[in-house]
Amino acid sequence: MAVTQAIPITRHPYADGSYKRMLIDGQWIDAASGKRFETHNPATGELLASVAEGDVEDINRAVAAARRAFEGPWSKVKPYERQGLLLKLADLVEKHFEELSQLDTMDMGAPISRTRGNRLRVLGMLRYYAGQATALHGETIENSLPGDIFSYTLKEPVGVVGAIIPWNGPLAATVWKIGPAIATGCTVVLKPAEEAPLTSLRLAELCMEAGVPPGVVNVVPGYGETAGAALASHPDVDKVAFTGSHVTGQSIIRASAGNLKRVSLELGGKSPDIVFADADLDAAVPGAAMAVFANSGQICSAGTRLFVEEKVYDEFVGRVAEFGKKLQVGNGLDPGTQIGPLVSQQQMDRVAGYLDIGQKEGAKAVAGGSRLTEGALSKGFFVQPTVFANVQDNMRIAQEEIFGPVISAISFKDTDELVKRANATTFGLGSGVWTTNVSKAHQVAKALRAGSVWVNCYQAMDPAVPFGGYKMSGYGRESGKQHVEEYLNVKAVWIKTA
Ligand code: ADP
Repeated sequence: MAVTQAIPITRHPYADGSYKRMLIDGQWIDAASGKRFETHNPATGELLASVAEGDVEDINRAVAAARRAFEGPWSKVKPYERQGLLLKLADLVEKHFEELSQLDTMDMGAPISRTRGNRLRVLGMLRYYAGQATALHGETIENSLPGDIFSYTLKEPVGVVGAIIPWNGPLAATVWKIGPAIATGCTVVLKPAEEAPLTSLRLAELCMEAGVPPGVVNVVPGYGETAGAALASHPDVDKVAFTGSHVTGQSIIRASAGNLKRVSLELGGKSPDIVFADADLDAAVPGAAMAVFANSGQICSAGTRLFVEEKVYDEFVGRVAEFGKKLQVGNGLDPGTQIGPLVSQQQMDRVAGYLDIGQKEGAKAVAGGSRLTEGALSKGFFVQPTVFANVQDNMRIAQEEIFGPVISAISFKDTDELVKRANATTFGLGSGVWTTNVSKAHQVAKALRAGSVWVNCYQAMDPAVPFGGYKMSGYGRESGKQHVEEYLNVKAVWIKTA
């Protein structure tokens, strides 16, 4: 495996070790408690910034500001003006894209090629939601009541949205929550992940520069159990949009019960990626490998259960292993890096734990299998891209979400039995099918119980195409028309006309 050399780190203007405040009601303020927490570069351990640490009182202030804005001047802002704000924000994000990409890379470790590569998607999302702002409409509906009663629906913003996001793609995750909120006329209190809060704060600055009115977008960094829990249980929050682990998703649902707030959840996965013997293996090898290794496996829809038809199992798994061994692992700021660090010590310990479990369960690591600690890598949280062969369906490494660069390769013979096995998981987020047989592709795509099926590709995403989970991968959809509906209420109006 190639290991990139340490590179000199250029000081980032937004990650220069200084202190960052939170944004409430258009003001950059300290936490009510005065507390701060630190955020570090997971590749080097370097201190990037200290950040105001929000808690219950800050969430209360932010929700009050969001409520005032929602019921005040923001409610009068026309769709065309909300569209203009999103387009202006998109232009600013485009102008500062390199800086934002570097910030994501420094705060959570992803290779710069990846964060730069998100350009089209991030800008596309903002411009897509801008388009949606002027495309919202209710319907006139003919009813069968006696007499003359006219009925129609109004689409209205749901209100104050609590957005809670993870660390695995902070820029895209922030845009994914703020975009539909502005488009629909909602207001937001966003809590970024404690591991990587900086890009959300920088994006909030750009929102202010774009002219988003005070209180419409508020960003309160802090920990999940304190600030996050306060937001999820707050009686004056109308909806929580959450992305993260299924365990936290379950506590969000419990916390939401007090005022029965609307909840949308994008949770974890253990997605099957299925390679038939008739597939174009030259395309499937890198496709299946990067379906897991991209972002060091820290993607909820990663295709971590690699089902390979028995006839080509040894050849295919061997080739994926060779591919994994050649990947360049290192500091994400190096343009040659393909695999960055994991986000934190905790995440690395968790992944290392699964590397042990896999070996104890009898799987064979045909690539990787341990941490990387040589040279400059010793300062960061690096794990070798790992391929486990001889994995059985009931092993923990085939059932539990690892959230690391770990492939569990499983052999199959029969397609019907395969579909049952592929669906035998509590999750249902992503899935992949590699085949040159178009009938088989359609049959399997229909039979898989997952929110996305990628055929002869993996992880394709577009702002217009809905993304979300079946089963314990959550509910609600992000992107697409369905996404803005999550931020709208439908009101029926009846008018007796005669
Ligand atoms: P991950 O394993 O991806 O870090 P988490 O579900 O732990 O997933 O975290 C995702 C987000 O949820 C983070 O912003 C985190 O702070 C927040 N969070 C964690 N616990 C809670 C909680 N009990 N209530 C609300 N938010 C939480």
